[in-house]
Amino acid sequence: MSLLFLARRFVAGETFEDVVPVVRRLNERGLHATVNMLGEHVKDRAAAVRAAREYLTVLDHIQRTGVDSNLSIKPTQMGLEISDEFCYQTLLPVVARAAEYGIFVRLDMEGSAYTQRTLDLFFRLYEHYRNVGVVIQAYLYRSERDIDELNRVRARVRLCKGAYKEPARIAYQKMDEIRKNFLKLAEKLLLHGHYPALATHDDRLIEPIKRMVAEKGIGRDQFEFQMLYGLRPEAQERMAQEGYHLRVYVPYGPHWLPYFYRRLRERKENVWFVLKALFKG
Ligand SMILES: Cc1cc2nc3c(=O)[nH]c(=O)nc-3n(C[C@H](O)[C@H](O)[C@H](O)COP(=O)(O)OP(=O)(O)OC[C@H]3O[C@@H](n4cnc5c(N)ncnc54)[C@H](O)[C@@H]3O)c2cc1C
Repeated sequence: MSLLFLARRFVAGETFEDVVPVVRRLNERGLHATVNMLGEHVKDRAAAVRAAREYLTVLDHIQRTGVDSNLSIKPTQMGLEISDEFCYQTLLPVVARAAEYGIFVRLDMEGSAYTQRTLDLFFRLYEHYRNVGVVIQAYLYRSERDIDELNRVRARVRLCKGAYKEPARIAYQKMDEIRKNFLKLAEKLLLHGHYPALATHDDRLIEPIKRMVAEKGIGRDQFEFQMLYGLRPEAQERMAQEGYHLRVYVPYGPHWLPYFYRRLRERKENVWFVLKALFKG
């Protein structure tokens, strides 16, 4: 049994042709999708341009097949480490073609060295295109201010806890503090934002959010939950059946191995899944 076979629980495959059947199966179960080509920290201009070209092909493929999916893109894959201007110019045709097709593009948020530059990039693109959104991390102290600014321009925000190791100078370290801030920011987004996305697998966030929207009379079509492909698939389907919008983040690409290892490291159930498959096979 190959490792890719096992990794396919969490990644759609190695090529964009692998992605459409996965997205179609999710759509058939009432789930929306957002596709990400794995890759980050590109230092070479040609590689960033190649990645942008690949995203154009993915967009054409989504459009042609009619599946329901957005794109999620890491700015450092598009050359943010090379320069802000280069990254903007690389992303622009991708966002433009997505706009032509009515497809939404999310800029993922990376480590704190890129927070302000990613927001600047977002605001620059947003001046021309409304089909673009950004991510805010609940562990950063600055996030409340960022959300106020994003809400003012009706930007679409994905809220997540944050996945990088950040110092106590700029970020909450304790999970209960991160959760508390997540719920505070989620409330701001739900009350004053524009179709926010709440990205978490954590029932200690999901359940209070469900209660909050019920109490405040916010429709289930006014926001979405987001989860990663292969994580809590039964919960994803159940929430969609309950009438919540649930979008699944579907990664793919030849560089799937580090992503797969990260999923195994973060949760022992994921390792069990691999071991069970190995011994069954
Ligand atoms: C769609 C999506 C997009 C993201 N985009 C970004 C981004 O742009 N930038 C960024 O920094 N981070 C991003 N993240 C990652 C995010 O910041 C967190 O690191 C990650 O989601 C882990 O936090 P969590 O709240 O999901 O749950 P965790 O903190 O991992 O887990 C908390 C609790 O959730 C429950 N739980 C979690 N997984 C399972 C499971 N498989 N089965 C049952 N219960 C479970 C358990 O009760 C667990 O104790 C994204 C996450 C998602 C889902």
